[in-house]
Amino acid sequence: MLRFVPEKTQCFVVMDLEWNQHASRTNHEIPHEIIEIGAVKLDRDLRILDERQYIIKPVVYPVLDKHIREVTGIDPEELEAGLSFARAFTQFVKWCGEDACLCTWGRDDYPVLLRNTRYYKMDLPLDPPLNVQMVYSHLLTDKPLQQVGLSTAMERLGMDMDLPAHRALNDALYTARVLQRLEGAVSAATEETAQALRKFLNEEALAAQSDTRSVPTTYTNYDDVLGNARMVAVRCPVCGGETAMTLPWFDAGHGRFMALCDCPQHGTSFAQMHFKRLYNNKLVMHQRAYLATPERVADVMARRNAARKTLPRAARKAVRAETGETK
Ligand SMILES: [Zn+2]
Repeated sequence: MLRFVPEKTQCFVVMDLEWNQHASRTNHEIPHEIIEIGAVKLDRDLRILDERQYIIKPVVYPVLDKHIREVTGIDPEELEAGLSFARAFTQFVKWCGEDACLCTWGRDDYPVLLRNTRYYKMDLPLDPPLNVQMVYSHLLTDKPLQQVGLSTAMERLGMDMDLPAHRALNDALYTARVLQRLEGAVSAATEETAQALRKFLNEEALAAQSDTRSVPTTYTNYDDVLGNARMVAVRCPVCGGETAMTLPWFDAGHGRFMALCDCPQHGTSFAQMHFKRLYNNKLVMHQRAYLATPERVADVMARRNAARKTLPRAARKAVRAETGETK
């Protein structure tokens, strides 16, 4: 695995999170509140050294969501006795130590951790994780971009799921075991394959630090949202500052909109947007932006050229007015 991580790496920390939410009353500053951190530490040769489980008492969503309770088997009383997020996270970071390489299964956990630390105005001193799921998909399946569930991957690898329930620590332990199993494929991979995977993991790391926004709107159709300059504005994922649209939003198909925008300090970001409809037919906008690699810029340009639909005229005008573009 050392082929895919920074040279300074002293150990691997496989992390898995469980979080709570509220189905209808979401605080958009923190849509998912972490209630459990499970972590397993491995040395450079992927031998398991230690494990930790931190239970966190939820304060934003104090009532445990029914579905989450069923899936995780977490007992509300257990949460009641949990630590504050600040305390648990501080202990976790200290336990990780210097030059730990974080690992996760999938791309969901790190952005949630980032959002929780920002909510509590804390630093996140851990770099974006190695996504073990992508290493698996690239090296052991013929669909390199497929997001395979952990249990499916384990089944295909002929591994037993012998630990109880879906808890953060158990999933971290399973991911650690899969990581160990992947070592053979990593060593066997050609330099060409490794190079392609490295490029992809680099993009994953950028995406993990996305600026994401979920905004409930009063609109019921896309065009109205797209015509609202404040809705379609994109913030720089690095500094949070305003950006100028270099390629305005376009419909890339399947209800996904894309754009490129520029921060004078941090360069070009890639932005994506899609919508979800609420029970009352109102749209919720989901937006994500992260720094774009040259490959990503080329890819978005190609998609733009292939896309048939463009933004309505009014929307383009609104975007230009907002970003101060003259052309
Ligand atoms: Zn910036």
